[in-house]
Amino acid sequence: MARYSIMEIEQMCAGKLYPLFDANAYVSYLMIDSRKLRSASEAIFFAIKGKRQDGHDYIPTLISQGVHNFVVSDESVIAKYSSANFILVKDVVIALQKIAATHRKKFDFPVVAITGSNGKTIVKEWIFQLLAEDYNIVRNPKSFNSQVGVPISIWQMAEENTLGIFEAGISEPDEMIRLEKIIQPSIGVFTNIGEAHAQGFLNIKHKAKEKLKLFINAETLIYCKDHGDVNQAISEVSAFSQSNDREEKINLFTWAQNTDADLRVVSLLQQATTTFIVLEFKNEQVEVDLPFVDKASIENALHCIAVLLVLGKPLKLIPKRVKNLSSVAMRLEMKEAINNCTLINDAYNSDLEAIRIALDFLNQIHSHHKRSVILSDVYQSGKNDPELYDIIAKMMKERSVDRFIGVGKNIIRQRKCFEEAQIREIELFETTDELLQKMTSDWFKNETILLKGSRVFEFERVAKSLERKSHKTVLEINLNAITQNLKAYQSLLKPKTKLMAMVKASAYGAGSVEIAQVLQFNRVDYLAVAYADEGVELRRNGITLPIMVMNPEEASFDAIVNYNLEPEIYSLRLLQSFIAYLHESNALSCSIHIELETGMNRLGFDESSLDEAISILKATDSIKVASVFSHLATSDEPENDDYTNAQISLFKKLADKVTSSFPYPIILHILNSNGIVRFPNAQFDMVRLGLGLYGIDASNVISKQLVSVSSLKTSISQIKKVKKGESIGYSRKGKADNDMLVATIGIGYADGLSRVLSNGVGVVYIQGVEYPILGNICMDMTMIDLKGNEKITEGEEVVIFDHKFPISLIANKIGTIPYEILTSVSNRVKRVYVVE
Ligand SMILES: *Cc1c(COP(=O)(O)O)cnc(C)c1O
Repeated sequence: MARYSIMEIEQMCAGKLYPLFDANAYVSYLMIDSRKLRSASEAIFFAIKGKRQDGHDYIPTLISQGVHNFVVSDESVIAKYSSANFILVKDVVIALQKIAATHRKKFDFPVVAITGSNGKTIVKEWIFQLLAEDYNIVRNPKSFNSQVGVPISIWQMAEENTLGIFEAGISEPDEMIRLEKIIQPSIGVFTNIGEAHAQGFLNIKHKAKEKLKLFINAETLIYCKDHGDVNQAISEVSAFSQSNDREEKINLFTWAQNTDADLRVVSLLQQATTTFIVLEFKNEQVEVDLPFVDKASIENALHCIAVLLVLGKPLKLIPKRVKNLSSVAMRLEMKEAINNCTLINDAYNSDLEAIRIALDFLNQIHSHHKRSVILSDVYQSGKNDPELYDIIAKMMKERSVDRFIGVGKNIIRQRKCFEEAQIREIELFETTDELLQKMTSDWFKNETILLKGSRVFEFERVAKSLERKSHKTVLEINLNAITQNLKAYQSLLKPKTKLMAMVKASAYGAGSVEIAQVLQFNRVDYLAVAYADEGVELRRNGITLPIMVMNPEEASFDAIVNYNLEPEIYSLRLLQSFIAYLHESNALSCSIHIELETGMNRLGFDESSLDEAISILKATDSIKVASVFSHLATSDEPENDDYTNAQISLFKKLADKVTSSFPYPIILHILNSNGIVRFPNAQFDMVRLGLGLYGIDASNVISKQLVSVSSLKTSISQIKKVKKGESIGYSRKGKADNDMLVATIGIGYADGLSRVLSNGVGVVYIQGVEYPILGNICMDMTMIDLKGNEKITEGEEVVIFDHKFPISLIANKIGTIPYEILTSVSNRVKRVYVVE
């Protein structure tokens, strides 16, 4: 583990140390996210200034949590706190990078660096799989390949390692040269170049040249000669042919199928589940059976094989190693489990850093008080067992794990690590079978369970017995996408504009608790729900953000006050009855939100009733006006922009009346998702983000930056041959004009598949191909025309909508809007949350 004195860190980043706490402090953990606290006493926090967030703001909280060391760029904080060490630098990110670069210099084992548009993470993970038995490997956790991810990854380099594999990704020019200084690779892999993430670059060639800067000092560069763009960029970048700075020319190691190369693909035959490849290297041939058939996997595997050869592995070793390559699952699923539990199933490799990331995620979920971890023996960690399990036990303790269930002989031998960390409940089993026998129906109750195991332990069997049995139609929700969409909209806001996230109607069908947890983690300012019940559910599941309730019925005033919710008040009647309630119940005080009528003609005070409302409010001590807002009726339609602008002007005028009547600051807001995109000058103090969060941009301006959140999927229950002339389904609406293959799928109108999609209006997708709906949609089932495709089998996955086939396609077909499709997916459809 990297560990330096604070004075060494000062030198590494060329900053100035103010040792106000302890000049002899030690640092072993670089912290960039104040929410991920660990090893507080040896952590150093980098107060990074973003556009909207400033790391310096979190310093007091971190000090109270036991963090003593900070790298800052704002000198003024130093005088404020006497109990911390500060290193003052010009740019905090650059300081982090310098520290990593200096640390990197201590090691001279080979380091492979990978960049390119696609496949970086898979290539990195596969090289790891192929070489784990020969080397003690250090690599980026998951895909930590950014300007801060790379330094954090490099920081893990340690004495015991013998090979490094790091990926690097950039989104802007000039970033790669900084990553090169940190990684200092000896061997480079350039995977490919495509359109992805092209924003910051002039064109593909520009991007390729920028990426190639990662290899300016490398000994060897591996690439595929079949890629014209890569080839051209490499021949153009002078560093690779001749360079004045370099003493020696870079060695180019190429592979290709179509032209001559160092490693040549002589033939390639895609079979049912494997690809048979004949390779030639230095006049020697081998036959390789790759257990994948898709083009991307073949390309990734060939890059990896090239790395093995460059590292001097014999060609004859390749077939044996490649045969065992397995797919890299990069996702974590969260779903409801038996007895009111939540199951987090993490299929990613179970190395130390991945375990840490999964534990951080577990720690973020507040649905249940009790946190449990089921973990198997961990292989290939590069550490000896007592040290490994000691670290794991401490990580669990730090993240308040209450119950640890370990499976495997090694874990059993290290029982005392977990006892010493004082995990409250410890249960250990030698095999997965033993665990499964013990798991009676009430063994887990009201807890969040993290399941993480090495492949040989087959924890999918454990997952199966924990999952709540229900019907197989699922709405899959990508939680990373929520974060990404939030960031896309935040990038349109002025730095001080607050954001209220709309999680009404069960977060547009995505599930309000889970979505609110992600939003709270990402520090939005406010949440809004339609009804008090929804707010109560959020409070009961650990949501502490302020919550606005848009339809506060009188019967719910109790809940509003008891759960610290904030009602929207839109009429004199509602205002008076709320004041009367506060009076009767002796409630101390409550924040409210005033809605103004400006043209939507739905809810809100109009100009004529506003003065009276203000005078009532001024006479009431127990109410504080937190915000004043209005809602746009037609923010996405350019032809109505005059109307929208008039709404905005009227809002300004009426809101001024309110703000000038009270001595304290009041938040003003009017923009919804489309408004944020189209009326940047009307942000006032806050915006209300709804649909955009869920990945849909009706105004079509920032669609490219959004990621689809929800996928609705089911599967085929039965396939049958229907003879020419027969009918299919209710009222005999489906007709077989010829002999046909018909599949029955497990979704109907009761799940939210609109019956208007019957009789060929709608389609579904199997393996990316479209199949029409046949006849009338039934309550729980639907028949589709397989168009004679006999390769499709029962049980096959069927997509209703996903990232490729967006909700808007269905909405357009049946004359509605994406909002309605999203919120119509019924409750009985199981929600599965995915984190990538
Ligand atoms: C639903 C709602 C929003 C969010 O609208 P989107 O179009 O989904 O962004 C904003 N404000 C109010 C008052 C709403 O009811």
